[in-house]
Amino acid sequence: MPASSRRAGLLVKIETDRRLGHEWDEWDGTPLANAGDFRTNAAKYFLFTAVGILGIAVAGAVVVYLLAPRLAQLAPWLPRSLYVADALLMAAGALWLALIGFSYATDRALLPGRFAERGLLLKTLRLSSRVGQLFGVQRDWTDNAAVAVYNRLAWAREWRVRANELLILIPRCLSRAALDGVMDIARRYDVATFVATRGAYARQAIRERRPRAVVAVACERDMVSGLHDVAGRLPVLGLTMQLPNGPCKDASLDLAKMEEFVRKYLR
Ligand code: SF4
Repeated sequence: MPASSRRAGLLVKIETDRRLGHEWDEWDGTPLANAGDFRTNAAKYFLFTAVGILGIAVAGAVVVYLLAPRLAQLAPWLPRSLYVADALLMAAGALWLALIGFSYATDRALLPGRFAERGLLLKTLRLSSRVGQLFGVQRDWTDNAAVAVYNRLAWAREWRVRANELLILIPRCLSRAALDGVMDIARRYDVATFVATRGAYARQAIRERRPRAVVAVACERDMVSGLHDVAGRLPVLGLTMQLPNGPCKDASLDLAKMEEFVRKYLR
């Protein structure tokens, strides 16, 4: 092969001691934006969720518009009723988001859990990151913002457990220093820690150990999918990590924050 053709094309080098989680399947081996630190404020979650709610309402109105002649044959009042229902749903979505925003801003749990971080909010996590992607925002930023909103609402509720009822869930990708720090916190507070090599094992550990609260550590992508699956059933605080060497390897985290989360749940 001539040297010129050997130089052509992108050579992707993915280190062999790194096993990617499926959330990172499409990673091409290039360094992550901002050295893998996606900490941001909550504005992206609110902005993209608002756009998502508006987009769903507009899509609903377009469908009614396209089907209006057929619907009118069934009942002349049907198209207008569906427009009104669509508008009411959009208004309810906007009101809900405003209440979540107010809860976030005031650190108060204004809505029951199932209408907030243990229910409806979880259903919007993926909506916000998908809308963000449509606008060219890498999902990790929006997921970080969504987890920040989730945590603030979860923090606003009083929930105390004994040390043996709390479970710390950590991923397999922590750096040595981060792992040592987590184990030190777990030892000092006498809390069980489970290293989940895959999301499915984390869920299995929760099923088997039946904790009454969980402090979970993961990257933004894994955190959103874990919260989506678990946070409706038990209280969870989620700590996202920084990935200076790319995904699934040598992750670091804010140990002071981790300790705060553990202390929040302990009596
Ligand atoms: S938590 Fe770690 S191992 Fe799991 S997908 Fe995220 S970066 Fe990869």
